[in-house]
Amino acid sequence: MIRLSGVTKVLPSGGRPLIILHPLDLFIPQGQFVAIMGPSGSGKSTLLGLIAGLDTPTEGEIDVNGARLGRMNEDQLARFRGSNVGFVFQTFQLIPTLTALENVMIPLEIMGRDGAGDRANELLDIIGLTERASHYPAQLSGGEQQRVAVARAFACRPKILLADEPTGNLDTATGANIIGLLRAIHSEQGTTMVLVTHDPEIATAAQRTIQLRDGSVVEDSLPATGGDGGNSSGGVEP
Ligand code: ADP
Ligand code: MG
Repeated sequence: MIRLSGVTKVLPSGGRPLIILHPLDLFIPQGQFVAIMGPSGSGKSTLLGLIAGLDTPTEGEIDVNGARLGRMNEDQLARFRGSNVGFVFQTFQLIPTLTALENVMIPLEIMGRDGAGDRANELLDIIGLTERASHYPAQLSGGEQQRVAVARAFACRPKILLADEPTGNLDTATGANIIGLLRAIHSEQGTTMVLVTHDPEIATAAQRTIQLRDGSVVEDSLPATGGDGGNSSGGVEP
């Protein structure tokens, strides 16, 4: 689960401070698939960075899976991310000098998990790229690279998957394929998924859509009532 309480992001700038996020309260129960939409510059990437603990809020508290991010130091945050959070980026971000298989193994090895090779092979099978295991990113199409990135993101079975415009560099059909893959693994593993997208069709795949404008939520298709997550899409707060 993800909970933001009174979270703001304000940057000092020459004249008056620049408000990136206005006070934001948000509860996302475990297992929910949420699409974040909004124009460029509305604060979508900032919001994902805060949830991931890659960025710190100016005010407010962020709790992820019961852990308060503001109470962790850098090492604790890094370990927390490694075992709880998976990422998918618009630009794939695979390591060019590693094969597809090795790219998927990396997070498992960093976290010291046993059976990294077996788990990575299992994931390549799920994404349908077993035959490309020994290929390097440059030898793969954009869609194939993003499938490898999805496999890498799910490698450590994260409770939360964050994706920032994961289909932004792909054609419509390939993008739909990536979203299908995310949805399949999401429902199989019960992952909470927060996906930033410009594509209304992709947003319809989500259980909930949140619209940001100028750093404020202007629409939430399924607001949590009273902050206790009591909504029909399931997901009980631990
Ligand atoms: P989005 O992902 O919705 O396009 P962002 O979260 O990237 O929006 O950015 C929100 C706003 O914050 C934008 O106006 C952007 O220019 C500004 N911004 C983000 N990070 C910084 C930064 N480090 N320094 C200055 N401005 C920033
Ligand atoms: Mg962005």
